[in-house]
Amino acid sequence: MLADQTSGGFNLIDFSLLSNSFKIRWIKSFLKNPTSIWNCIPNFLLKPVGGLDFLIHCNYNISKLPLKLANFHKQMLSCWSLMYNHKFSPHTYFIWNNKDITYKNKTLFYRSWFDKNILLVSQLLDENCNFLSYRDFMDAFSFPIPPKEYAVIFYAIPSGVRMLLQSSPKGPSCSPPSLDSSNLYIDNCLFISSEFTNKKIRSILLKPCATVPPCISFWNNKFENIDWKRFWSLKKEFLITNKVVEVSLKIIHKCYPCNYRLSKFHNNIKEECSFCLCYPETIDHIFWECLYSRIFWLDFSNYVNKNISKDFTLTLKKVYFGVPKVQSDISNREFVINLLLFLAKFFIHKCKFIDRKPLFCIFLKDFNQYLLSLEHSSSPLAINTRLQCAMYKLLNSP
Ligand SMILES: [Zn+2]
Repeated sequence: MLADQTSGGFNLIDFSLLSNSFKIRWIKSFLKNPTSIWNCIPNFLLKPVGGLDFLIHCNYNISKLPLKLANFHKQMLSCWSLMYNHKFSPHTYFIWNNKDITYKNKTLFYRSWFDKNILLVSQLLDENCNFLSYRDFMDAFSFPIPPKEYAVIFYAIPSGVRMLLQSSPKGPSCSPPSLDSSNLYIDNCLFISSEFTNKKIRSILLKPCATVPPCISFWNNKFENIDWKRFWSLKKEFLITNKVVEVSLKIIHKCYPCNYRLSKFHNNIKEECSFCLCYPETIDHIFWECLYSRIFWLDFSNYVNKNISKDFTLTLKKVYFGVPKVQSDISNREFVINLLLFLAKFFIHKCKFIDRKPLFCIFLKDFNQYLLSLEHSSSPLAINTRLQCAMYKLLNSP
């Protein structure tokens, strides 16, 4: 439901996703102007861990940070973890605020080391991937530290990390990556730029939770080369009601309320077809296989052959997914045929519920009525539909 319309979703906004995107937006505003007076409290709160602009680059765990944070700041940091992927890389494996490097179950941050640009675990290793001794460390960085600090840091780093860093550049001369937040890219977009909109934030946050509709694998097994992107966006080409679109989507999502399915839930509903009363009413049966539907589609094909396209043949795939666009064909025949297919499926659905047989002559009257109703609309979709249908003289004057 939350996914983009071109992926089969309905582009709905989830409240928690919206709330998370506002918190990411807050981080963006902070990074754009970190010295603003509005940011003095978060600056003060996060100073013991290097400030927000450093913390967002770290592989942190909120519960292990040596800070007492307000709920808002906790939520803001957990939203950032969803947004920014802290993948393991030797070039960004920091000593500070790293959830893997803890002492008394809290992550570490030593301002004096940080100010000396000692940020990476790989800076603490020698060429043989062994930790620098206390003396080597002080010689390499020309920087006096209490033995306790040295012991705490070197004790806290898990020994397995050395194995992971074995093949990467090591040693005190290793230079840490740029931490310039004004140059931070996420999903190939500059984070503080105006292009990084709320919509973009939501789409990134949505990626891990968006699922592919299960019907896709079913139909891919049944038909070859389905253009899903085109199918999901096809409805936007026409000025048709949600009810009309709903029938087509319910067929594809395999949740159309046909008698066969409903009879499984309620004993009073018989599974027989509403038209022929002989066979179980499955989706395929009522929309394609039933004798009455086949007569309807035969008349439909004859109508299209006579008025729109001489070489048109109707298949079940076309009924369900529409007619593919032919790039070389400038006459836009597929537009009119797809419109007729949307309305025809809705017509069959309507006939089922009003207990009538689907007669093509009645459908044509409905279609004519639909075209007449478009005359009152100034929508570009209505104007285009009228023009396309006029090209094939489909409108009969009342
Ligand atoms: Zn039937």
